[in-house]
Amino acid sequence: MTSVIGELAELFGEGSINNGERMLLSLFIETVEQVPIAISITDKKAKILYVNKEFSRVTGYQSTDILGENESLLSDKRTPKEVYHDLWRTISAKKIWRGTLCNRHKSGDRYLSDLTIAPMLNEAGAITHYIGMHRDITKPYESEKNGVNQKLLIESVINSSPIAMVVLDDQDRVILDNHNYKALVSDLDKGEPATYFLQLLRDEMGDLWSQLKSSEQGFNNREFKIESKGGQRVRWFSCAGNWFIENEVNADAFFEKASKPYLILTLTDITRQRRQMEELYLQTLKTIMAEDERVRGIRETLLGAMHQIQMPMNQIRAAEQILKHKGDDQNAGLLQILQQIQQSGEEAVATMQKCIPEILQTAVIPINLNLILHEVLLLSNQRICSNDIDVYWQPLAQLPTMLGSENRLRILFKQLIDNAIEAISESNNAEQRLKITTDTDADLIYVSIEDTGPGIPVEKRAKVFEPFYTTRPMGGNQAGMGLVMAKEIVNQHQGIIEIDPDYDQGCRFKISFPLHKQVFKGVE
Ligand code: FAD
Repeated sequence: MTSVIGELAELFGEGSINNGERMLLSLFIETVEQVPIAISITDKKAKILYVNKEFSRVTGYQSTDILGENESLLSDKRTPKEVYHDLWRTISAKKIWRGTLCNRHKSGDRYLSDLTIAPMLNEAGAITHYIGMHRDITKPYESEKNGVNQKLLIESVINSSPIAMVVLDDQDRVILDNHNYKALVSDLDKGEPATYFLQLLRDEMGDLWSQLKSSEQGFNNREFKIESKGGQRVRWFSCAGNWFIENEVNADAFFEKASKPYLILTLTDITRQRRQMEELYLQTLKTIMAEDERVRGIRETLLGAMHQIQMPMNQIRAAEQILKHKGDDQNAGLLQILQQIQQSGEEAVATMQKCIPEILQTAVIPINLNLILHEVLLLSNQRICSNDIDVYWQPLAQLPTMLGSENRLRILFKQLIDNAIEAISESNNAEQRLKITTDTDADLIYVSIEDTGPGIPVEKRAKVFEPFYTTRPMGGNQAGMGLVMAKEIVNQHQGIIEIDPDYDQGCRFKISFPLHKQVFKGVE
């Protein structure tokens, strides 16, 4: 120790210091000796004049090994030359330099040195020495880099995910997101997509949202239909979320632990699956409707035949009455024949009656007519497109439900829309328009289906709801029973169907149903 003090006293030109100063100097040197940071003092050319104990521990060099050597002994030569240039330029300009160098331990192992070099000036302001202070930061650097690498790894994993992911803080601010999420920002045109989806989720989940959040319980399979740019493309997303708590790392939370909840929100585009499901559903509907149409066809044919038979039967019955009235024995044989014809006719009608197939019944449930009309439009899409018809589909956004039979109502609207398409395709009207609207008031739900076809003349409007009346040539499916059935279905639902007398650009059917009626008249 005495030698170190002597050396330093000599180094600083303090040869003639008194006892008090000697004690202070000794205390100062002892402090520098024991301070847990590697300290070296050099001359102006970096020749080492003094090193403390920590320097020896960090570098592996004892003071006897290194005094008189240049600091460059520690250089690993991996540090770029420019760093040393910067170092020397700074300290030569009497400024403090701070940076990281790659150093070599006496053993040959490399370590990272967080180094500060300060020039020491004499009274004239000239540099006399340099003092270097460094710490081995290899381990903290490795941990920091590991953290960064881990973050990069996580980012590349979430970026390669086909699902849009976003991490939000408790103020709904985006903390982390992936490429797919970023793509949604421009694709959806809804501002910050997370904010938009959070609103949908909160609206849908109500109180459940805060319950799940406070218990850190996740949610999944929350599906939403989104109309993207200009409402041209409809996309479906399935949302899932998980809350997690992260300990805060700021100074405030050093002694008093504080944490913050974060939400990982994933948004999966399920449009393709939805479309497939929709197509499957439509296919099923088409099958059901085709079966229903087949049954209806048989019913109409048989009812038509029964209707046709009725006329000659009535004539035979009249002839039979006349002959009976005459009481003429001469015609007894003829009367008998007529009675036999009458009997076999009645038997034939009875047989036909028995053969009339039953129409499928479906359960009475709350129904949103918008959905039914939308389905029917999808079912008729091909015919609408092939006839180049412009569809104006204007459903009321919040249409209340009504009680009814889904299947029957679907048949009703399919009939009316098919009629409208047929009418439009037959007309010479320049405007090919099919407009469907829904509306409501306190008591009723309204559906309006209008076309720009030739319309129905005033005198025929009442007749079109009568059996076997058609404005078109008879034959095939045109048995004139479509509107009869439509009216029957409307009646079953206690509704009213009428042709709007004020509409003169084609035909407009106005249908109204009572709201929430519990009674439903079954099919006779
Ligand atoms: P060098 O030839 O030593 O220097 C490289 C370049 O630095 C030269 O081309 C020159 O432009 C400039 N330079 C060198 N000496 C001077 C000078 N006296 N005046 C002006 N410019 C000069 N280096 C380490 O690698 N690890 C350390 O821990 C470390 N600690 C240091 C502590 C102190 C107090 C000082 C003053 C320097 C320290 N150095 C340290 C720098 C060291 O002295 C060397 O400059 C460096 O190691 C590069 O060594 P080199 O042999 O590759 O090149």
